[in-house]
Amino acid sequence: FNHQLQRTEKLKFVSELAASIAHEVRNPLQVTRGFLQLISSSSDQTNKNHFSMAIDELDRASLIITDFLTFAKPELDTVVEIDIKQELNTVETIMSPLASISGAVFKIQLPDGLIIVGNPSKFKQAFMNLIKNSIEALKENGVIEIDAEKETDWVLIRIADNGEGMNPEQIARLGEPYFSTKSKGTGLGLMVTYRLIEIMDGSLEFRSEKGKGTEALIRFPLVRSN
Ligand code: ADP
Ligand code: MG
Repeated sequence: FNHQLQRTEKLKFVSELAASIAHEVRNPLQVTRGFLQLISSSSDQTNKNHFSMAIDELDRASLIITDFLTFAKPELDTVVEIDIKQELNTVETIMSPLASISGAVFKIQLPDGLIIVGNPSKFKQAFMNLIKNSIEALKENGVIEIDAEKETDWVLIRIADNGEGMNPEQIARLGEPYFSTKSKGTGLGLMVTYRLIEIMDGSLEFRSEKGKGTEALIRFPLVRSN
C-alpha cells in the first residue's frame, strides 16, 4: 500500500511538472514562430520551404500542448463547486474565435444553478477538447449545440455538432492514444478528455452517424441544484 501511495505521489509530481513546463514552453514557441515567419518573408523559395516545415513542426508542438495541458495549472488540483452554466459559458468564450474562423455558430441552452464538484481547469480542458473536435468536424452551416439538464442525481451535458460524423469503427477507437483521422491531429485530445472526466467521477459517451453529426454526452454527479 505504502509503495502504491508513493507511486501515486510521484505520478502527481510528474504531471504537475509537465503542466508547468508546458506553460513555460508555449510562449517561446510562439515567439520563435513569429521570427521564422518574418525571416521567411524575405528569403528565396528553397528557404521558404524549409521555414514552412519548421513552422509546421512548431505548430505541432503547440497542438500537443493545447490538447493536453492548456488549463492544467499545477496549483489547481483543488476541487471546488462548479456552476455548469458559468463554466461552460467561459469555455464558449474561449472557443469563439476558433468557431468563427470555421463559420460555426453556437446554440447554448444552460439552466441556472446546476452545481457539480471538480477542478475548474480540468473541466475547461475537457470541454475545450470536445468542442474543438466538433469545430474541426464541421462542414458549411456548422452548428454546435451545448446544453445541460438535470437527470435525477446527475447533470447531463450535451455537445452536439452537425459535422462529418463517425462510423462505428471510429467510435470504438475514441480515446485510444494517437488515434486521429486528421492530417494535423495529435490523437491525444480524447484520451486526455476521458481521463479528466473520469477523475471528476463523470462519464463520457458518444453517439454519431457518418454524414450527420456527433453527440458527446457527459454526466457528472449533481451536488445540488439551486
Ligand atoms: P485529434 O482531434 O487530434 O484527431 P482526438 O483524440 O481529439 O484527436 O480525436 C480523435 C478522433 O476522433 C478524431 O481524429 C476524429 O476522427 C474523431 N472525432 C472526435 N470528435 C469528433 C466529432 N465531434 N466529429 C467527428 N469526429 C470526431
Ligand atoms: Mg481533438
